[in-house]
Amino acid sequence: MLNLPANVVTGTPRIEKDRIGGDLVIVPVRPYSRDMGRCARCGEHDRPYDRLPARRWRHLDIGCTRLLLEHAPQRVDCAEHGVTVAMVPWARRQSACTRDFEQRVAWPGVHAPRSAVSRLIRVDWKSVGPICRRVADDLRSQRGAGLFDHLRSIGVDETGCRKGHTYMTVVVDHDRGHVIWMHDGRGQKVFDLFFQALTPARRESIRVVTGDGARWIDECVFRWCPMAERILDGFHIVSRATDALDKVRTAAWREARKTGTAGKGAKDPVKGARRALLKDPGRLTAGQKAQLECVANTNETLWEAYKLKERLRMILRQTAGEAAPMLRQWAADASLSGIKEFSKLGEKIDRRRFDILRTIRSGLSNARLEAVNNRIKTTIKIGYGYRNLDNLIALVMLKCGGLNLQLPGRQ
Ligand SMILES: [Zn+2]
Repeated sequence: MLNLPANVVTGTPRIEKDRIGGDLVIVPVRPYSRDMGRCARCGEHDRPYDRLPARRWRHLDIGCTRLLLEHAPQRVDCAEHGVTVAMVPWARRQSACTRDFEQRVAWPGVHAPRSAVSRLIRVDWKSVGPICRRVADDLRSQRGAGLFDHLRSIGVDETGCRKGHTYMTVVVDHDRGHVIWMHDGRGQKVFDLFFQALTPARRESIRVVTGDGARWIDECVFRWCPMAERILDGFHIVSRATDALDKVRTAAWREARKTGTAGKGAKDPVKGARRALLKDPGRLTAGQKAQLECVANTNETLWEAYKLKERLRMILRQTAGEAAPMLRQWAADASLSGIKEFSKLGEKIDRRRFDILRTIRSGLSNARLEAVNNRIKTTIKIGYGYRNLDNLIALVMLKCGGLNLQLPGRQ
């Protein structure tokens, strides 16, 4: 009934009062003798050193009552690690909570902001991040180096967090749709660290590297896995067009405001149409369709820019043979459109035309790459308050790293 961890010998539970008069259930526990006297860092059996005063570990609540496990831990003298507190089977090293309790915190931790988790489970909000990190480290070490086995196509991206003040480099395994590596910072030096973590055989197994058009990606791929094909991410190409379209929209709205023809706030046809313009046309609501129609009738430049963006998206869905002439035509039309943002983009796309065709030929599903990318971004938003970047990385790993995070008792 108490859902105590397996592998412990339990004594008689007792009830105590906490500082504010609430009930606490205290259960004295100890490991089985075969689990006693092990170093917490290497797990080896060691010589006993001494015994520390009793400590408590927070375990899963019983109903609304907190439950604490109580044990006076032994210290052991490890040949390698010196005098350390012995391992206890119910908790991770240097944690005041049981493994089950930590899973219980980490699971909602990847879905909800930590303030919500903190209230739901009655745990200090500052400990949510470190708990997620311990769980992620543990799950990752269970997977061992296997995380980097059989890599075939990988993607690299830099993601801004904290309103773009900090950047993270994220590496995704496209075949499994998982984040496999993440590091704070961006650029060539950071991406080098990823390749340094791989054995030469693992580097050689990589056949495809996707990413945006940044030169540092080209350089790293050339240096570390020259046999791999370097491909541009389809969604990065589309997002360039989307960014250009948004700039055209902002300019149009400013112009309308200057001439006094703008509506108020979101009611203005141009300002209010932002979502409608940027969204996939297949998923527009009736209201958004009407907004687009209004743009088509009132703002020629913006409508032209919108059509260019949609055409580019359609081209990326064609086969490479069909796309080649369409892409050339698109680049020419964009360059001559007279819209500054799209003229520039047209030239850029013309320059990287063959890279884009390679993207199409690779058959990597753009929608899937984008979905993984979006999942990473939402997780980073959830971890917005995390001061410690390692905790944030742990959060992304738990949510997008393919780690098997389960609620306690539901394996
Ligand atoms: Zn040791």
